[in-house]
Amino acid sequence: MNDIRMIYHVLGPSPYSKDWVVFHPYSLSFIEVPEDLGEKLQINEIKHYHLNDRDIKLFLDSIIELKPKIVAKVPSRPVYAYINLTSYCNLACSYCYVQQGSYGFLKPETFNEKLIKKTVELIDSLGIRYVAFFGGEPLLHQDGIKKFIEIFEKNNNYIEFGIVTNGTLINKDFVELAKSYKISITVSLDGWRLLHDLNRQYRSGKGSFSDVIKGIEALLAEQIPLFIQATYHPSFLNYKVTPLKIAFYLSKFTKYFAIKPALILEKDRKYEIASMFIEYGKYAVETLDILSKDNLIYADQDVVSITKILNDRIFRSFNCEFSYYITILPNGDIYTCNTMPPIGKIGHVNEDEVNIVMRYKSLLKEILPKVSIKKWYDVLGSACFPYIEMFNTYSGIIESNMDHFLMKFYIILKENKIFNIVKNLENLRKIYNYEYEAYTL
Ligand code: SF4
Repeated sequence: MNDIRMIYHVLGPSPYSKDWVVFHPYSLSFIEVPEDLGEKLQINEIKHYHLNDRDIKLFLDSIIELKPKIVAKVPSRPVYAYINLTSYCNLACSYCYVQQGSYGFLKPETFNEKLIKKTVELIDSLGIRYVAFFGGEPLLHQDGIKKFIEIFEKNNNYIEFGIVTNGTLINKDFVELAKSYKISITVSLDGWRLLHDLNRQYRSGKGSFSDVIKGIEALLAEQIPLFIQATYHPSFLNYKVTPLKIAFYLSKFTKYFAIKPALILEKDRKYEIASMFIEYGKYAVETLDILSKDNLIYADQDVVSITKILNDRIFRSFNCEFSYYITILPNGDIYTCNTMPPIGKIGHVNEDEVNIVMRYKSLLKEILPKVSIKKWYDVLGSACFPYIEMFNTYSGIIESNMDHFLMKFYIILKENKIFNIVKNLENLRKIYNYEYEAYTL
């Protein structure tokens, strides 16, 4: 069966009645069915939806009528630009997926003025209104950030700016700039000193924690909203540190952050990676529970994003965010998302915008089928391109995590706590502009 509308997933017995709960990914609905039908449907699911049974047919006829509210579409041109200002970084984090900004093939380089002007022209002609500075470490090239902003301003372009920084180089000048232009700031902080310094070190081996905290405090002193990105690394399990403990620590600095599992592909670390995913699954359920409380303690970006999809009934017809982005490297080469280089090149800033859009579209055509929905839970999760191999290896754990998450969501619906979630998300949205990731095209 390959009609996604007919695919369902049995979550199991309801804690409220004798019924069973079935999840329908296409309409993002929870359906309660009698126990005997639930059992039949589960066997049918295991047999890849091929059983020939009257009750099952009736059930399938009923779910095909259920419609998604919105089907997210692939945009016809990129919406956001990542500008990799430099291929230098002052840190050497153990899990760095961009190899300190060089991606393992770029020579050390920073954006020069001529290229900055060309890039602004291109972004303008593409109609892009969201620009994030990335790297390497973008704050190594603060003059470049100022120059970009100055030219955008001169051209009267309304742009929302963001920056992803390791936080070690946040100074007075940058704080002023961030305040004046309402730059959305993402700082990487993996937890308290012991955890952070395990993987996020300078080239000398010295931990970066103290400098990052100084940077964060300088931003908070000016009431600049801050988003933190933490990487949950399997080595934290040696210290019995769960993601939830890290979440409580991060909530002292900001209520909105993301804790993401580290991207590790080594085959000999399967046990550690599996344990990491199990912990991560528990964390997602705990976080959903926290999100449903009267007062918001914290919110995690991934949980928010899945919760929004479930609550708004937004069906995702694809599951790779790279189709929204272009990434411009310091030599002017353009790729799709920032995880793609050295593959996925679609042009250079010196080229005409029409050629770039043409190659962007043809690359999407080639790559999207590789990442588009393969399993029922792909509707909710994000199968980011470099993560695909890791997700496939641990798909059993991911599926069981998703089951727990959905059952928790079902309980929240039954207990009428969904209004707390809506209220908490609305309050978050007032502080942080996270609308851009809501798939509401
Ligand atoms: S700060 Fe970022 S770019 Fe630099 S080494 Fe760490 S992960 Fe890589």
